[in-house]
Amino acid sequence: MNDRAPDPVEGPLHPGRWWRTLDDGRVQCDLCPRECRLHEGQRGACFVRARVGDAMVLTTYGRSSGFCIDPVEKKPLNHFLPGSAILSFGTAGCNLACKFCQNWDISKSRDMDRLMDEASPGAIAQAAVRSGCRSVAFTYNDPVIFAEYAMDVADACHAVGVLAVAVTAGYISPEPRREFYAKMDAANVDLKGFTDEFYVKLTGARLAPVLDTLVYLKHETEVWFEITTLLIPGRNDSPEEIRAMSKWIAREIGFDVPLHFTAFHPDFKMTDLPPTPAATLERSRRIAMEEGLQFVYTGNVHDREGGTTFCPNCSAKLIERDWHRIEGYRLTPDGHCPDCGTAIAGHFEAFERATQFGRRRIPLTIGR
Ligand code: SF4
Repeated sequence: MNDRAPDPVEGPLHPGRWWRTLDDGRVQCDLCPRECRLHEGQRGACFVRARVGDAMVLTTYGRSSGFCIDPVEKKPLNHFLPGSAILSFGTAGCNLACKFCQNWDISKSRDMDRLMDEASPGAIAQAAVRSGCRSVAFTYNDPVIFAEYAMDVADACHAVGVLAVAVTAGYISPEPRREFYAKMDAANVDLKGFTDEFYVKLTGARLAPVLDTLVYLKHETEVWFEITTLLIPGRNDSPEEIRAMSKWIAREIGFDVPLHFTAFHPDFKMTDLPPTPAATLERSRRIAMEEGLQFVYTGNVHDREGGTTFCPNCSAKLIERDWHRIEGYRLTPDGHCPDCGTAIAGHFEAFERATQFGRRRIPLTIGR
């Protein structure tokens, strides 16, 4: 980052964490594996963290690009309070540079004027309670880069009985990873591909730290998490790559972590590719299940089979979904198959079809 021209760092600044001063006088951000090394006035690759004086600051604390109430299935989380509403928000910037970004107007934003909704952690928690949301999601852009804000919001949510969910690429360094996930109840982690070449060429990141995050979550935390892979035609969707990824997940994470294969639509710097064919999603799901994964879903498409949770023991249909709406629900309130009694991995409670949030999206203003 040392050849980056200084950008003026303006607006409300919040003290940043996880940095150190190097012998050559630069300040290194230790939040994510990019380890940006900055001179005075420079911004990191995520754009929203910067060096001011001899310290790192976060320029987006307390400011959001907008709030929406979504179904939790949209995150996607299929085994975490199904049918519930989740208050969702993001800020600006991102520490990855995905050429296929499906949220690029937010993640690539250099325009801080987009951050119109000023909201304290307490105000967000209260808004979640008022609107009947069981949880708050840090999403739309990666919460790693606004970790101080997300962690404070999680604390405020927990104080009023609301849960905290991170939707993330999992690109975070070990020390902040521990502190960040200590505040989270659930996460959806993108596993964007299964080759380092894909990560380097198309995301500007590396594969290994993402795998480290998944292993960490599984073996050293109680965080409920699910994995999402956006399938991009010709880039990360070969049967060989999907099989290798599925084998790794089964071996290192376990058979019961839900895996979502979602459909790409041409966007940002990848408008030359077609949308993901339904057949590719179905083929990938079949391969993952052949490797023993028990809960494999398709997303961003109408696919009743690929949206259904089946009992891994007796194959009974337990939760039938169409897009983000639950059409059939047979789990017991404590998350067991009613036919054979098998416990289904996840966080479940009593479900009432009439009160599910369904396929809505309700924008919300919290600040000004
Ligand atoms: S969080 Fe931002 S500033 Fe820090 S290392 Fe990552 S990209 Fe660079």
